[in-house]
Amino acid sequence: MLIVKKFGGTSVANKERIFNVAKRCIADYKAGNDVVVVLSAMGDTTDELIALAQSINPNAKKREMDMLLTTGEQVSVALMAMAMQSLDVPAVSLNAFQVMMHSTSRHGNARFKRVDTKRILHELDSRKIIIVTGFQGVNKYEDITTLGRGGSDTTAVALAAVLHADKCEIYTDVDGVYTADPRVVKNARKLDVITYDEMLELASLGARVLHNRSVEMAKKYNVELVVRSSLNDSEGTVVREASNMEKMLVTGVAADKNTVRISVIGVEDKPGTAFRIFDTLAKNNINVDIILQSVGRGGTKDISFTVASDDLQSAIKLLEANKERLTIQEITYNENVAKLSVVGAGMMSNPGVAARMFETLYNSHININMISTSEIRITVLVAEKDIDKAMNAVHDGFAVPE
Ligand code: ADP
Ligand code: ASP
Ligand code: MG
Repeated sequence: MLIVKKFGGTSVANKERIFNVAKRCIADYKAGNDVVVVLSAMGDTTDELIALAQSINPNAKKREMDMLLTTGEQVSVALMAMAMQSLDVPAVSLNAFQVMMHSTSRHGNARFKRVDTKRILHELDSRKIIIVTGFQGVNKYEDITTLGRGGSDTTAVALAAVLHADKCEIYTDVDGVYTADPRVVKNARKLDVITYDEMLELASLGARVLHNRSVEMAKKYNVELVVRSSLNDSEGTVVREASNMEKMLVTGVAADKNTVRISVIGVEDKPGTAFRIFDTLAKNNINVDIILQSVGRGGTKDISFTVASDDLQSAIKLLEANKERLTIQEITYNENVAKLSVVGAGMMSNPGVAARMFETLYNSHININMISTSEIRITVLVAEKDIDKAMNAVHDGFAVPE
């Protein structure tokens, strides 16, 4: 069997953990399998590097950020190879350049375009354990890129897809995918199975247990994922295509504090206004999420929308620069908001989920700022200070079934 095993930052945070991971990989290797390991940077390394960069230049270029941040993963893979070699197991560490993991050019948020297999297959042929840096790619200028926070999961899935791996295991610091973040919701329950679509919604809506693009890619290439703990042997959660299991009304609840609401006030109430505003944002790579437009009055209207916190400054700058053309009278924003979402494939055929969610929030005296829905999701925007309480209330309100 060919097994891809990915370990996150906490799983390789110190020497003991590195040896713990090495031993888990060696066990599979000694059982006769081909083993490809993907690692994240140790512990909080990435956060620390970001803070260090900020202290030197708060406007650091994204290219240089990528040069800096990718060092974290390089440290992990080298140390892991050394650990395995010290246990007399042949291992080789490889970075994105050595594997050749081709990505798009966009620093800080690149996507894989193509991943070469030649070098890895060659090393596997000589019975080595392969240890690959997560989170990084190489663009057409031969510059190093990163895939966005949490991107090592995507490296693992990309490798599993191109190598036609028999298994892709994502090891982390919780026992699997839960009905909500187990660190916030005390009644959260581990799921045995979750579909790609549900997992994709949860991951995109703030459940950082898997990088959303890793789920997208897993679905596209039909890579079955197992999310499990690196610290114990419990079974974890399988992420796969929908089976004939009964669709749960609500599979999980996710929260995202990394969001801000922007309002453009007094824009012309005419065809083309919304197009021009959102086209301007899109052309500058700013993703817009929930949108709310007021009823027009006296020839003008207001439009509110949410963007990721990281995009706030550039969005405001852009709107200010285009204020006249976009007919905006005033721009306001609120950073103290968070998104709360419930996800479940069963919602499609079950009216009343939204009403129940709103009732639960009402009972907890939590005000709703904005609402958006899809077939299998309902998202509301609430005050950031209320988010943990809201998450617990909504989770328990649905008492996600056993
Ligand atoms: P890693 O470093 O292993 O990639 P992450 O910190 O990226 O780990 O992701 C794991 C964390 O995701 C957990 O510690 C947990 O707090 C958080 N999390 C958020 N939502 C969920 C969920 N629904 N199920 C499990 N964990 C979740
Ligand atoms: N080290 C990177 C991060 O912290 C990638 C990852 O952990 O997946 O975001
Ligand atoms: Mg992660």
